Amino acid sequence: MGQTILDGATAKKALGRLMESYKHAHYYLNFGTDVELMVAAIISAQTRDEVVNLLTPELFKRYRAVNDYAQADEKELAGYISKVSFCDAKAKNIIKTCRIIMDKHAGRIPRSMGELLELPGIGRKTANTILINAYGIVEGIPVDTWVIKLSWRIGLSGSKRPEDIEQDLMGLADRKYWKTLAYVLKSHGKAICQSQAPLCSKCMVKDICLRNGVKQSR
Ligand code: SF4
Repeated sequence: MGQTILDGATAKKALGRLMESYKHAHYYLNFGTDVELMVAAIISAQTRDEVVNLLTPELFKRYRAVNDYAQADEKELAGYISKVSFCDAKAKNIIKTCRIIMDKHAGRIPRSMGELLELPGIGRKTANTILINAYGIVEGIPVDTWVIKLSWRIGLSGSKRPEDIEQDLMGLADRKYWKTLAYVLKSHGKAICQSQAPLCSKCMVKDICLRNGVKQSR
């Protein structure tokens, strides 16, 4: 079997080039408040950003504060997000989460990883997303499907488990880059390292990337 992971110095070089190429990469869901961010992030699991961004304007008009969601009718809330996968489960989680925030946190979204992870529908990826984008608190790196795919392809991590990948990336990238790294990888995935046939001939890391699992490229 060939090499599946880059040595540290080469992996850092690849990350450096990607960070440089996608300097303006940023979080991709629209929100105005921390509550909106939390709700959008919960809704976005296994759903395309474009779909979430299309439905949130109406949703955010109907429900504004944590308490609005805590008191929401589950069926009505699910109706607002019916275009996303698992809308019933997500509506249930949003309501439960907001009730806990009202009861245990005086209506304010907690600002620590430990407390966020106690809320239904919130895993490490969503918790990192909320901490970084709502409060500027950087504890880790949100690992979404693009991060998993590209970390494996390029050879930044030898694992496909989000927890391991997060640790590997945290070891490779300076802390100042943790905020945007996920969005850099996503931007690269959308622009060049596409799912089916990546555009390797145009890629800024083509001389470094291990192309793990890439069967067809352009
Ligand atoms: S486009 Fe090709 S060379 Fe570039 S990161 Fe993706 S698989 Fe690697």
